[in-house]
Amino acid sequence: MNGCHKPTTRWGTLCSTHRNRQRRHGHSNQTGVTKTELKPYIEIVRRRKARNQDSPLWTTLQTRWEQLIENARLVLKDHLNGKAMSRHLVMTSRELVNIHETVEFGDISCTALAMFILQTQHPMRFRDQNGFLHQLTRRLRGLSDVNAGTWFDHSTGKVKRVYRDLPARTSQQFGQSAIEVFALAGAVLAKKEIEEANAKQAEKLTIINAIQEMQ
Ligand SMILES: [Zn+2]
Repeated sequence: MNGCHKPTTRWGTLCSTHRNRQRRHGHSNQTGVTKTELKPYIEIVRRRKARNQDSPLWTTLQTRWEQLIENARLVLKDHLNGKAMSRHLVMTSRELVNIHETVEFGDISCTALAMFILQTQHPMRFRDQNGFLHQLTRRLRGLSDVNAGTWFDHSTGKVKRVYRDLPARTSQQFGQSAIEVFALAGAVLAKKEIEEANAKQAEKLTIINAIQEMQ
């Protein structure tokens, strides 16, 4: 199925490594997007933002985000009042409120938009849409210290941070919520980056050609 020949469990078609990856990363061959890997894309968004401080984009995104959080709070309130609802919706809502209360919106938006630029520039980095949703969720949740536990690694003598994972369906739903807020802006920003890179390339070629034509 995925080129792996390790023994599978009695119930599944995947070995334990690939099954874990499927659960944590949304696809059995999806690997995690690290903070370091995403950093250059976050820089792209930050530069764009710095050059366009007054653009209505940022306040519009923030309004949409706050609407999402308001809905999440209503879900949690209904849940507390005993209303029956999906466990994943409740967990997603809890995660959304948590990140909203512990992370600056500027960091949330730059991280989310950066993920769409990464996806546009390197579509193969994500095995499928589910793999992307999981990574979007992981990078957003990674912004909040609340989600990190620490343990002492005796082999390196360092304190390590580990993030507790959400159930796969919750990760998917959380990512879907972020998509509703950020996907359109992310796609258009990503397209603009590509257009600008192409324009620069064309300019370079014009200079090179012009010089070569010189006598
Ligand atoms: Zn395997």
